[in-house]
Amino acid sequence: MNISSTQDAVIKREEQYGSHNYHPLPVVLKKGEGVHVWDLDGKRYYDFLSAYSAVNQGHCHPKIIAALVEQAQTLTLTSRAFHNNLLGEYAKFITEFFGFDRLLPMNTGVEGGETAIKLARRWGYDAKGITPGKARVVFAKGNFWGRTIAAISTSDDSSSTGGFGPLCPGFNNVPYDDSEALKAELEGPGGEDICAFFVEPIQGEAGVVVPSDGYLRRVKDLCEKHKILFICDEVQTGLARCGTMLASDHDGVKPDLLVLGKALFAYFRSPQCWDPTRPGEHGSTYGGIPLACKVATAALEAWWRTPKPAANSYEQASTNWPGSPISLARGRGLLNAIVIGGNGGNYSEEGVAWQLCERIAENGPLAKPTHGNIIRFAPPLIITAPQIDDCVRIIERSIDSLWDTPMNFLSYYFY
Ligand SMILES: *Cc1c(COP(=O)(O)O)cnc(C)c1O
Repeated sequence: MNISSTQDAVIKREEQYGSHNYHPLPVVLKKGEGVHVWDLDGKRYYDFLSAYSAVNQGHCHPKIIAALVEQAQTLTLTSRAFHNNLLGEYAKFITEFFGFDRLLPMNTGVEGGETAIKLARRWGYDAKGITPGKARVVFAKGNFWGRTIAAISTSDDSSSTGGFGPLCPGFNNVPYDDSEALKAELEGPGGEDICAFFVEPIQGEAGVVVPSDGYLRRVKDLCEKHKILFICDEVQTGLARCGTMLASDHDGVKPDLLVLGKALFAYFRSPQCWDPTRPGEHGSTYGGIPLACKVATAALEAWWRTPKPAANSYEQASTNWPGSPISLARGRGLLNAIVIGGNGGNYSEEGVAWQLCERIAENGPLAKPTHGNIIRFAPPLIITAPQIDDCVRIIERSIDSLWDTPMNFLSYYFY
């Protein structure tokens, strides 16, 4: 990707003074508005990642900014040592919005996941009578929920865990989209020590892996039958990203514990789960501060209440094209991915997806590879149909220019 010397210098400075814990595309952004972002040279792009779904509402939404500025000038941070006038109001609003009964506010998705595990273990001891110290939480293979020690302890991706051991005990994995495997785990030795199953309705980082219809329903039934909590990690899939307000709505199931994040920092639980925490057992200095409550309310109200964003999410199924460089397109709503390679030919090396992302970015939409050969497309949910058309054409042209393979069939996927 050809970038200006100005951008190159900024990148070099970041590389010199910053830790190299990410490998960003070589573009330096300085401004965002709606579905667009601009680089240092003033070039405009479509944001096709939305900060991993954290800017579903689009960049710099005026109503969210207004709430932020107003509250920043009034009261920002009180800690939870005292009550503030907004936490109760926010908790009522958001629990009613999603039909859950309680909110426990944290700051990031990974803290939401950590919190869910703590609550599930406590619930396992208090409500289910699991022997102290024995509680187990089962996860799905391919899961991603963050980078803390607990989060990597549940991961089967060696690039997450390698060199960071020892890992935490009390977790194990079963294959994703396989309710029989969960059933076997629950009925197998030590199954009575399981307190929860923790799962993403669609696996985001794994490359937008969509399970078969009814998977979550089967899982939920198993959880009820074996008296364990069903924890849904909707950090990436929730809030209308996948065509329904929660991706778990697609299978018509309600989790016992719901973890949200990214476009909203929060975490809830449903009526089935009574409140297992007591004062002093869990907390966060920034969780539930007035500034966050105000902005989170504004983020939901800004437009999720009014224009029906879910309608803006497309419905697609997995599709594949034998013999093309793109072996598969899959996803739901506005969380989609293409898989490069796998059809024979020389398309599956690591570098190819990266090269394609650079080519696409040169022409407009900014996206990034995940797991080497998968490219995720997740634009802000306010994107319009003509803008999607525009981007699909750009992506097709980019693939065409890289491999000289006409890709006009990609558009069939999106309609
Ligand atoms: C990003 C992500 C998380 C972690 O969220 P952070 O805010 O980065 O801690 C958890 N679960 C899923 C599914 C995610 O995509």
